[in-house]
Amino acid sequence: MSNAPAFIPFTRPSFNQETIDAVADALRSGWVTSGPKSAEFEATLSNYFGGRPVRCFANGTATMKIALQVAGIGEGDEVITTPISWVATSNVILSVGAKPIFVDIDPVTRNIDLLKVTAAITPQTRAIMPVYLAGLPVDMDQLYTLANQFNLRVIEDAAQAFGSQWNGQKIGSFGDLVSFSFQANKNLTTVEGGCLVLNNADEATLAEKFRLQGLTRQGMDGMDVDVLGGKDNLTDVNAVIGLHQLKQLPAYQTRRAALARQYFDAIRAGLQSAGLENLPLELPVENFSETNWHMFQVVLPLEQLDCDRTQVMSELKEIGIGTGVHYPAITGFTLYKNQGYKTSDTPIAECVGRSILTLPLFPAMADEDIRRISCGFIEILKKHRKN
Ligand SMILES: *Cc1c(COP(=O)(O)O)cnc(C)c1O
Repeated sequence: MSNAPAFIPFTRPSFNQETIDAVADALRSGWVTSGPKSAEFEATLSNYFGGRPVRCFANGTATMKIALQVAGIGEGDEVITTPISWVATSNVILSVGAKPIFVDIDPVTRNIDLLKVTAAITPQTRAIMPVYLAGLPVDMDQLYTLANQFNLRVIEDAAQAFGSQWNGQKIGSFGDLVSFSFQANKNLTTVEGGCLVLNNADEATLAEKFRLQGLTRQGMDGMDVDVLGGKDNLTDVNAVIGLHQLKQLPAYQTRRAALARQYFDAIRAGLQSAGLENLPLELPVENFSETNWHMFQVVLPLEQLDCDRTQVMSELKEIGIGTGVHYPAITGFTLYKNQGYKTSDTPIAECVGRSILTLPLFPAMADEDIRRISCGFIEILKKHRKN
């Protein structure tokens, strides 16, 4: 019998018994698709975001696509975004017929470098779609100053930023269109799902149409379809999970921040005692007021190692530690290369995309897990340090 410690995945959702019971109740209720629970979830979220209208969708990708449609973005339009994101961000831009314009990232925040946005604006530019990687927002004052100056819509890909803040205000409680994902890895999950925070009732009605076949109902039996919509509604079974996750969110957030704190301390102490204090391993921005600690990501000093990221990941896996890559530069994917995009056009993103590594972070982790991961990780760095 092996007594090796249990495998630690890079993330894992937490569902308490109350949530599981509520799902069972929803299944027994006789109404399982969108109905009273999704309406309640939308109302609760709207309250959470200070009263702004909120609509829920089947996933974060549909949420962002509908945000673009609500903003009227389509054929011939350009949308400025970041190459370091889940490919959904730019796929939705393509899927409405618009063109993603990739601006390089800031190596410290790993988010779009807003100072480089102005140079990418053309007469076709209609919107900026920033991504808050690992939950860390961009400078929101700078973002909205830019948007106002050039008369651009902002579609915030806040998929990873539920619970993040800017100057004490929740992300989503201000700004233009703000899109969240409730996919299983996200800080708040409905298994799959997403929500969009909108500006007014007209936008909310339009979002509802795009969500369900373009349909408007009148009276008992009247219906009309005047725009092309899809099938992107959130079910009540999923909404019930979201309602319960929302109650637990403050506890999850506290735990995530405590674990992140422990990572900083354990990794720094470990590098020191291994004689690696000069190794340029990059840690996340040490921000404990704004980020929701969706992920804890390091950027590996590959130039000073005799191996690549794959090797580091596989050696971590051998000692029972799961890791992830969030993300390689989107412009390196075949679909994008075939459209003429080049990773070399955004060299910082290219380098970060090759070297970034997500260490495990989720609320159910133990303090001991952080110690074990940090020690194991530093031993691997030490072993592979060039001369
Ligand atoms: C998760 C995620 C999405 C997509 O959300 P889904 O719910 O998986 O469709 C988009 N952008 C970013 C940055 C994400 O992390």
